[in-house]
Amino acid sequence: MALKKQAYKRKPNTYVKKKPYVEQRKPNIPVKVEALADVIYFKDGMTVLDFAEALHRPVAEIVKKLMFMKILASQTQTLDREIVELLTMDYGLELKDEVKTDMTKFEELTIEDDPKNMVERPAVVTIMGHVDHGKTTLLDTIRHSRITAGEAGGITQHIGAYQVSRNGKSITFIDTPGHAAFTEMRARGAKITDIVILVVAADDGVMPQTKEALDHARAAKSNIIVAVNKMDKPSANPDRVKQELADLDLLAEDWGGSVPFCSISALKGTGVNELLDTIQLVAEMMELKANPSRLAVGSVIEAKLDKGKGPVATLLVSNGTLRVGDAFVVGTTYGKIRAMNDDLGRTIVEAKPSTAVVVYGLNDVPMAGDAFMVFADEKQSREIALKRSNRQIREEKGVNKTMSLEDFFKKAEGNEKVLRLIIKADTQGSIEAFKGAIDKIKVEGTSIDIVRSGVGAITDTDVSLAEASDAIIIGFDVRPQAAVRDTAATKGVEVRLYDIIYEALDDIEKAMKGMLDPVFEKKMIGEASVRETFTISKVGTIAGCMVTSGIIKRDSLVKIIRDGIVIHEGKMSSLKRFKDDVKEVKTGYDCGIMIESYNDLKVDDVIEASEMQEVKSNA
Ligand code: GDP
Repeated sequence: MALKKQAYKRKPNTYVKKKPYVEQRKPNIPVKVEALADVIYFKDGMTVLDFAEALHRPVAEIVKKLMFMKILASQTQTLDREIVELLTMDYGLELKDEVKTDMTKFEELTIEDDPKNMVERPAVVTIMGHVDHGKTTLLDTIRHSRITAGEAGGITQHIGAYQVSRNGKSITFIDTPGHAAFTEMRARGAKITDIVILVVAADDGVMPQTKEALDHARAAKSNIIVAVNKMDKPSANPDRVKQELADLDLLAEDWGGSVPFCSISALKGTGVNELLDTIQLVAEMMELKANPSRLAVGSVIEAKLDKGKGPVATLLVSNGTLRVGDAFVVGTTYGKIRAMNDDLGRTIVEAKPSTAVVVYGLNDVPMAGDAFMVFADEKQSREIALKRSNRQIREEKGVNKTMSLEDFFKKAEGNEKVLRLIIKADTQGSIEAFKGAIDKIKVEGTSIDIVRSGVGAITDTDVSLAEASDAIIIGFDVRPQAAVRDTAATKGVEVRLYDIIYEALDDIEKAMKGMLDPVFEKKMIGEASVRETFTISKVGTIAGCMVTSGIIKRDSLVKIIRDGIVIHEGKMSSLKRFKDDVKEVKTGYDCGIMIESYNDLKVDDVIEASEMQEVKSNA
């Protein structure tokens, strides 16, 4: 009952003037709504006023009733359970003890909705399958059909999900092909997909990732529809696909099974409408429903730190309605929704069940797959988020969060002085060399624990692991991508990048002796991405670039990074805007870059610019 009160207490939001509430949304309490009508919930310290409010009766009336019971009470007087029970009986109602629910574990709650509030909701669909079988093409074709169908205003934005409508009904597609996103979300407890479209190329058949996708879809208990793609190819052999899937116990409807198979050409668009019809048919049979008249719950599809706008997240509303002004908890952070955009970049004020929206107003960047829930106000959201983040820290092996090489010695003043490292390098050789050398560093009372080492770029997984195990990430000739670097910065994970093993060893040894005192450090100042290349004889290769972050200066030191690995280091030989030589180019601008004695630039290479900067001592 106490919670029900909040629904009436909702503060008017600024947009209310423009668009009045059509319906009041109920807060998320795992209690049957109809039960509230004739039940009063007792809570410790219940006052006369609380009771009157719970009953929706005037306080004076309750005071009078108490007087009849020879109890003289003011409205702030607390009442014993027996007295409350007598009063409740007097009104012909039932008294129950308040359901104590740990709202900090909201993703574990089962929310019961009043069936009369339940309405049909769009299906949420994920496209999976082997690489190159056409997942991206299919997503694009479906999205494109929507635009040409004359959707009013806006240009599609990549927000990680989009909605199309067919026969007057919507379907929501999760636009993150690749199984990693799906598994990641599932691993974090998010069940967001109702239907999985398993794309299998008719000219290639079942491949390893087809099986993997099938395993994921089955484990998630999603309904499966098979899209047999590339039917336009002369070598297409749909029967082979059917046979190979039958061998994996996925039997097509026309072979006596229960799985719909659709023959399509994602490239030409043939069969795609039929696929959409099939999705709607399956969705209808699943009787997907949600209650728009409650505060929203759902999960994060994507999240990032936007330089101008702060933390930005795409949320999928699984139940309830999300509105601008709502205070909510997501993962271990919280926020108040300042603004929302849909997948066409349009400003919206509310999002109904099964829709994905970009929200602004978070205090931190959540992780994909994190659950969110709207609460009555920002204060409650903040408290719950704090409890959740404290719990997470406790659960993470009781180690202090975040660590930096500089404060290793200061932090490690206890008994155990363990420096935990995650090592990423461009070759196994570098890792072995580093490990061998590090074994030789002997500083009394300290030790080094290599939590993970591996070849390749620094990834989100490395950052998560570093965060969980209080480790520092050391990279040799590898770089984190911008998004990963942002995550590391947000989480306070230190990423140290080196080109020379000796320098890393030196820093580590100094840190262990408590004497790390960097004076100058090479600081990255900006990044540019190669969009096209031109080769001019006798001059060399000019890379047409876009500065994607920071600033690129004519006299910067540069590194060329391909697929997260440093492939060249050197200097720039020219920096131009159009035909003019320039000293610097800022984020968002095109420029032409030439690298001194290096002509092997390729599209999508990243040019990282850095300069020597004085580093403030931590002491
Ligand atoms: P993904 O890795 O599963 O996302 O696959 P893509 O969508 O990137 O497609 C891989 C390649 O197959 C691309 O060259 C597409 O143009 C091509 N492709 C996708 N669908 C079709 C199709 O229906 N017919 C033909 N002929 N090619 C297709």
